Amino acid sequence: MSDFTMRRTWGPAPCYPNIFNRKFAAPGKTIVIAGPCSVEGEEQIAKIVPVLKDCGVTFARGGVFRAGTYPRDNFGLQETILKQWAFAVREAGLRTIVEVIDIREIDKIEPYADAFQVGARHCQDYALLRELSWSHKTVTLKRGMGMTLVEFLGAAEYLTRGRCTPILIERGSATHMNHVRWDLSISLIAAVKGMIGIPILVDACHGTGRRDLVLPMTLAGIAAGADGFLIEVHPDPDNSLSDADQAWPLEGLKTVMDRVEAVKRAR
Ligand code: PEP
Ligand code: MN
Repeated sequence: MSDFTMRRTWGPAPCYPNIFNRKFAAPGKTIVIAGPCSVEGEEQIAKIVPVLKDCGVTFARGGVFRAGTYPRDNFGLQETILKQWAFAVREAGLRTIVEVIDIREIDKIEPYADAFQVGARHCQDYALLRELSWSHKTVTLKRGMGMTLVEFLGAAEYLTRGRCTPILIERGSATHMNHVRWDLSISLIAAVKGMIGIPILVDACHGTGRRDLVLPMTLAGIAAGADGFLIEVHPDPDNSLSDADQAWPLEGLKTVMDRVEAVKRAR
């Protein structure tokens, strides 16, 4: 770890033996996680899944267990919709990724999740990370919106101590910058790539909160070395149940994927 990174921590020099001493599968192909912010029902599923299939995404994401910022936003444990989503995604030959926000719900979600997502608000829920680490599946870890690089790697190490395949996701910080909802850290992506072998993705949807910035900031993340990207897509973005301002039009997913490959060829 560089002196520069160590100057930005407190206490003994950080040490991540399970990250630095282990080799993680280096994916040759771009990792693409795409799907709606929230799964809204059968009609939406029927529109989205065929497009995800045509695009050949790595994981089809569909928010089901939402971590509402306010308790009144509680979306609850929607098992019916989770089953519908998983059935349609797997019928299409794709894999699901499902967010887990509560350690007590892992067993209920597990049959429908080909990969688990740990959201930004739970990045430091170490009990949850420890439990998920024992899964044989992929676990994506989103950086908390107030976490430093050192803290993010510390959280990642909880995953690397187990059996799962970890993937990191940069999704922006809460800062004084108010032209965006959260401010994506492109430098963090480059720093992570220079330090460890765990794949890292760019999430420019949450990392900006603005549809007009999703494409340029996704490409910026890829240029900085990201192994892929997460994107929220919707057939009718303005009417998304959640995160409408950052929803990318479903029919434009292929364009983003093509542009990403062009940037990868140039880097
Ligand atoms: C999400 O990807 O659905 C999500 C809630 O993101 P975050 O945890 O980054 O806010
Ligand atoms: Mn969202």
